[in-house]
Amino acid sequence: MSYAKVKGTYDVLPSETKKWQALEKHIRLLFEKYNYQEIRTPLIEHSEVFHRSNEHSDMVTKETYNFTDRSGRALTLRPEGTAGVVRSFIENKLYASQALEKLYYVGPNFRYERPQKGRFRQFMQFGIEALGTSSPYIDAEVIMLAYDVIKSLGLKGVKVKINSLGNNESKHNYYQALKAHFEPHKSTLCSDCQARLEKNPLRILDCKIDKNHEAVLSAPNPFDFLSAYSENYIKTVLSTLNEVKIPYVLAPKLVRGLDYYSETVFEIEADIDGFGAQNVLGGGGRYESLVAELGGPSMGGIGFAFGMERLLLALEAEDVDLVDDSGLDAYVIIFNQSDMPDALVLVHELRNEGLRVDLDFTEKNFKAQLKQSLKEKSMYLLILGENEIKNHMVTVKNTKTETQELIPRRIVVRKIKEYVYHE
Ligand code: AMP
Repeated sequence: MSYAKVKGTYDVLPSETKKWQALEKHIRLLFEKYNYQEIRTPLIEHSEVFHRSNEHSDMVTKETYNFTDRSGRALTLRPEGTAGVVRSFIENKLYASQALEKLYYVGPNFRYERPQKGRFRQFMQFGIEALGTSSPYIDAEVIMLAYDVIKSLGLKGVKVKINSLGNNESKHNYYQALKAHFEPHKSTLCSDCQARLEKNPLRILDCKIDKNHEAVLSAPNPFDFLSAYSENYIKTVLSTLNEVKIPYVLAPKLVRGLDYYSETVFEIEADIDGFGAQNVLGGGGRYESLVAELGGPSMGGIGFAFGMERLLLALEAEDVDLVDDSGLDAYVIIFNQSDMPDALVLVHELRNEGLRVDLDFTEKNFKAQLKQSLKEKSMYLLILGENEIKNHMVTVKNTKTETQELIPRRIVVRKIKEYVYHE
């Protein structure tokens, strides 16, 4: 029996939650600037939402948490955000309302991976999906937004890598070329790649074991197999990015971890000391067939996701602090337990005015209450001593200026509110 946390999971303790909240707040504001609306989908989906016949990625075939519920339903904990969002988009006919649906999400995903720094079995992602159009300009805007995530957070040393897998015709031609290229090397590839050669040779380019294999390094370039449509498409995406001055590099080996991608794919990499292999902060791409595959109309989409743990590590490594570190507005101090009801009435009135206020419940003496108020970084101390109570007054101390004044109890709430809001 074990009461320890499950391998690959972590607790976010109160001392850490502010960082998470600040990051989440930051990205929500950013997404809303680009007119994305939040969607919240379940953590569990029917297994077939992820386990589709043409999906051979490691993420889906090897890393999902699958189980049957008590009625025998095959269910999967979501390993990524897109498939569930697309399922919901179709089920709720969101495509009927508009030509383009801009959705964002924030939440946990689950993958049975080998845990290491920046890699967990339960991890948080935020991401977006722009569904319902196949315009290269939306691809450009989505990459602008992905870049803005990084830039607005103040992270430096970040690279945007872009590739194009092309449409079905391009992908088919590229697969054939990859097959022909890898066939003579089959026996020297890892056992997984030998199987990939038959099912989906693109996945060989993504192999962690064979990534330095000579045949992988000399593999054909997908740009050479793009159909006229796909070539034109990526050219428009790239020239638009040039116009809006988003820096990027072309990355012909970038295939992304899922098989549903087509046309534009991209990743955001951070060049941060000590990050090692976990330097990919986020990535995404276009999917032209996924909506139809999940039973929806034939329409394309594009999205990306960022890992929040890695972003927090990157922010820490680059000394970026998003947290608004201000403490309480006021801390109420009493001398006798019998004054607790009066103190609670006062904090209640202050909180009703939107102020952040607390007081001691553990019968600490005056000095210990002062110490606690320092820990809470309280702006004002409201002292209810014997004399104050008797004379219906409150001693108010501004902890910054160290000035102190006696204020009548009946106007103290209004006064504190004025002070705090006019700071
Ligand atoms: P993916 O959905 O695999 O394209 O991943 C997008 C981003 O999610 C990655 O760049 C990481 O930042 C993050 N991510 C993916 N898998 C994990 C994991 N197991 N633990 C932590 N972050 C992850």
